[in-house]
Amino acid sequence: MIDIKNNFEIKKMERAGLINYQTHKLLESKIKPGITTLELNDIAEEFIKSKGGIPSFLGYNGFPKTICTSVNEEVVHGIPSLKKLKKGDIISIDIGVIYQGYHSDSAWTYPVGEISHEKKVLLEETKNALYAGLKQIKNGVHLGDVSSAIEKHAKKFNLGVVRELVGHGVGKHLHEEPDIPNYGKKGTGIILKSGMTLAIEPMLNLGTRKIWLEDDDWTIITQDGKPSAHFEHTVLVTDDGYKILTGE
Ligand code: MG
Ligand code: MG
Repeated sequence: MIDIKNNFEIKKMERAGLINYQTHKLLESKIKPGITTLELNDIAEEFIKSKGGIPSFLGYNGFPKTICTSVNEEVVHGIPSLKKLKKGDIISIDIGVIYQGYHSDSAWTYPVGEISHEKKVLLEETKNALYAGLKQIKNGVHLGDVSSAIEKHAKKFNLGVVRELVGHGVGKHLHEEPDIPNYGKKGTGIILKSGMTLAIEPMLNLGTRKIWLEDDDWTIITQDGKPSAHFEHTVLVTDDGYKILTGE
């Protein structure tokens, strides 16, 4: 069953979303060549706790850290480590925050210094694919309209759409129904209703859509080693559209 949130719950999710957004902004200001992904993790953990939040990912199915840091060909679920960022890298940072029992989930991919033209296009168009999907959202539309808009945008720029990982409902749990694939057909799937809270999250690759799981059993990488980007917002479905809970 898909959970419809009441105003009391939405207020908590807004707070979880705000802390998530502020954590992203703080990390964005720290990203530079030479910083390690573990340092970014520790900054995020301290900040989230200072705001009365709890990191959603820490311990989730055994995940060992607060944030996911996925660099270049890493798609998602990279584990923060002593690896230093280099100029020209891209880094996807995925953050989950629990505030008084309610989760927010948001990912963003950032450049490390000057990056190549093709990486710039990847970042820009993955973000645009997210917004193409979001623009479909309102009470009464099919979920497939969201999925198909994301896929259509990705195809326009020849980007590989990862299929094994999907967006999802979010709220009392980090992952709730429904699954939200980044591909699909208009006019299919469940009907969205006001009060649903969803994490929409295209993962797009510069090359093949195919992925591998690394030996650490967490990190997902592209099979051809080409870079991948990930943009995600937690949103509330409203009568005439949507409200982003993890942004300004
Ligand atoms: Mg996420
Ligand atoms: Mg998510």
